[in-house]
Amino acid sequence: MRKHKVDDLAHYGGQPLFDSIRSISNLVRPDIETFLHYSKMFFEQQQYTDHGVVESLHEKRLAAFHEVRHCVSFCGGFWGLVMAMKSLALPGRNEVVMPSLTYRRLADIVAWAGLTPHFCEVDPEQLCITGETAARCINDNTALILGVHPIVNCCDVDGLEALSQRTGIPLLFDAVESVYESYKGRKIGSCGSAECFSMQSSKLFNAFEGGYVTTNDDALAAKLRVLRDHGVDEDGRMVLPGLGVKQNEMHAAMALAALDDVERQVADNRKRYYAYRRFLAALPGIRLREFDESERCGYKNILVELLDDWPISRDDTLKLLNAEKMLCRAYYSPPLHQKKTGYEMIHGDLAQTERLAQRFLLLPCGYFVSEGDIEQIVGLLAFIYQNGAEIRDRGLQ
Ligand SMILES: *Cc1c(COP(=O)(O)O)cnc(C)c1O
Repeated sequence: MRKHKVDDLAHYGGQPLFDSIRSISNLVRPDIETFLHYSKMFFEQQQYTDHGVVESLHEKRLAAFHEVRHCVSFCGGFWGLVMAMKSLALPGRNEVVMPSLTYRRLADIVAWAGLTPHFCEVDPEQLCITGETAARCINDNTALILGVHPIVNCCDVDGLEALSQRTGIPLLFDAVESVYESYKGRKIGSCGSAECFSMQSSKLFNAFEGGYVTTNDDALAAKLRVLRDHGVDEDGRMVLPGLGVKQNEMHAAMALAALDDVERQVADNRKRYYAYRRFLAALPGIRLREFDESERCGYKNILVELLDDWPISRDDTLKLLNAEKMLCRAYYSPPLHQKKTGYEMIHGDLAQTERLAQRFLLLPCGYFVSEGDIEQIVGLLAFIYQNGAEIRDRGLQ
């Protein structure tokens, strides 16, 4: 790390730490030959979409991976979530209980499904919805509980499943961030009524774009298959108001190549995570969110908390890091209930969420971040910590 004085920070005109962007996206690149191998399968069949040989194999492989009866693929995670919400929401009711400290598009997806977000608090230790925080928002108009797995480890599956059973309200999971994980030894994919995943290119499984829903419910899987195919059933009859949101063969070929590569990806992610853990251990004011290694973990995200003795705000820290060509992001800021949207949202006091939304940030990770980069990144954080008083005095424009 070649910075000696505050003027050397790129924000104040110094040379950026990196020449090219270091991103927080996983940016997986599967083996091209494997991708071409799967692509030839559909090319030779001359079937490019409508659930040909590759997409069928992709659904089978993913169902096996998640140890669940059904995988229904979609052209994106967004539409998988919309269709699952529409299928599961209790009729005559329209509220979805969900966290506000979560993925920035999630409330939009609920609105697209014609439902109303009702935001609940998160548990301050787990950073996510729990059976207890969700229970406080249940009322006569609750149509669905939307559990979201956080970015490190899984959410309170047992508590949410118990709440769902007790109230008779269906439980859907956004499991995008826990695609590789297990909960109490059980693979993520079979929890609640259904779980939704994304294969957008920044996720652990890169299919360019894509998503899927897993479930053990035969009727739900059949309904989702009809809904993604224009509402038309196997006999060609229009039975539901559906959409054209199916996966195509080329994206499925990429998904299979990514799936073949996932163990290597996770092993690489683990090395990066250990490097961060080793370097960050010596640095005060900042704490790494640790993966629970008694479970399966994908080690995908590097999430840190700025503690009370960190000298500058999280947002100012982000400004400094971004200027150094590190595309770091706040861990959910603003929380969804503080965003301006054109649709109705319901919430009570969310003080915990608002406090937590100021404390966390994601550090660069994934395929293109080396161990040397990690040493530089932590070195820069140490420099900010040591020069905190001077940075605070100068301020950030
Ligand atoms: C990316 C993401 C989605 C949406 O997936 P797309 O395939 O991009 O539509 C939903 N939930 C979470 C938590 C995500 O990270």
